[in-house]
Amino acid sequence: MIPVTKPYLPSREKLDRYIDGIYERQWLTNDGPLVRELTRRLEEYLGVENLLLVCNGTLALQIAYRALGISGQALPVEAITTPFTFLATASSLKWEGVEPVFVDIDAGTWCLDPALIEAAITPHTRAIVPVHVFGNACEVEAIDEIGHRHGLKVVYDASHAFGVTYKGESLLKHGDAATLSFHATKLFHTIEGGAIFFKRKGDLERARQMINFGITGPETIEEIGINAKMNEFQAAMGLCVLDEIEENMAARQVAWDLYMTAMGDRVVAQRRAAFVTNNYAYVPVVLESETQVSSLIAQLNTQGIMPRRYFSPSLDATQLYGPGECCVSQDIAKRILCLPLYSGVPASAIVNVILDSFDGNSL
Ligand SMILES: *Cc1c(COP(=O)(O)O)cnc(C)c1O
Repeated sequence: MIPVTKPYLPSREKLDRYIDGIYERQWLTNDGPLVRELTRRLEEYLGVENLLLVCNGTLALQIAYRALGISGQALPVEAITTPFTFLATASSLKWEGVEPVFVDIDAGTWCLDPALIEAAITPHTRAIVPVHVFGNACEVEAIDEIGHRHGLKVVYDASHAFGVTYKGESLLKHGDAATLSFHATKLFHTIEGGAIFFKRKGDLERARQMINFGITGPETIEEIGINAKMNEFQAAMGLCVLDEIEENMAARQVAWDLYMTAMGDRVVAQRRAAFVTNNYAYVPVVLESETQVSSLIAQLNTQGIMPRRYFSPSLDATQLYGPGECCVSQDIAKRILCLPLYSGVPASAIVNVILDSFDGNSL
């Protein structure tokens, strides 16, 4: 079976050495030395400061909302966000008592369309939560400017954008905060895990207290917190995966190029923003119709190849999060398919099945 993705498993010997160290120190969690080391290594690799490691990417979003004062209010609060994303972007808002207000995406970039944001602002709006979907950069200057002008916080869900740079600098640097997911299925992972980049050090320090129950000293608690700490085993995995990230990305790039060159004009690719790098985290393609998506999936499945329809459905078209009228997102969601991509994926064999299917169906 060829899944859409496989978790990257780094050198076992190296991981064992880190685990030996954990056993020697008998320090398993609570801001341990490996979590500190991974924080430093990631800040250096990503070219940012003010990075806070947490136990998963969903809590990264929730803590960011809390630390920035978006959630945790008694008043009704709304946040403008995209329906073309993984559930967690919207569920994290709802869980924090913030109503997600869906604004449609751009038909080319599949990211939140800044031209539609202002019309959705109400007296309850406190934040904009865009997603750098599939590692593409949102129109960050336009969105940051709208946020600034209306006094709204901007939190980018950058779960797909590990290591992506925009105009030569980390894409994470836009907005008041940006969050990453280090789930096993992501490009860089710590089994489960995540991180929050904060623009301001004060927000980082507030969030650091929040992820440890609001404790500020041996006998002091400053506010109501939660437990969102990363542990030492997660950090050990992260340190090992980070050591091999360049090889991992290079292998993915080879497969990505092969897919895209072979499929050419027969599919619509995501229009990447200018000056943005690709981290080769996903191979999403849009076909002509939902019927074509279904028949390609059926064809691939006969060979044990399991592509995935994400993100589908568009969240505004679901019962729990809808109804909404994001026509572009609903249309893309019906026609999108993510092809298998991981280090070691047999891309040329998959491409052959795809091309046979296209020719058989005279796409
Ligand atoms: C994976 C993902 C998340 C959630 O991350 P977890 O680490 O699984 O909690 C949030 N947003 C997006 C866009 C994601 O892809």
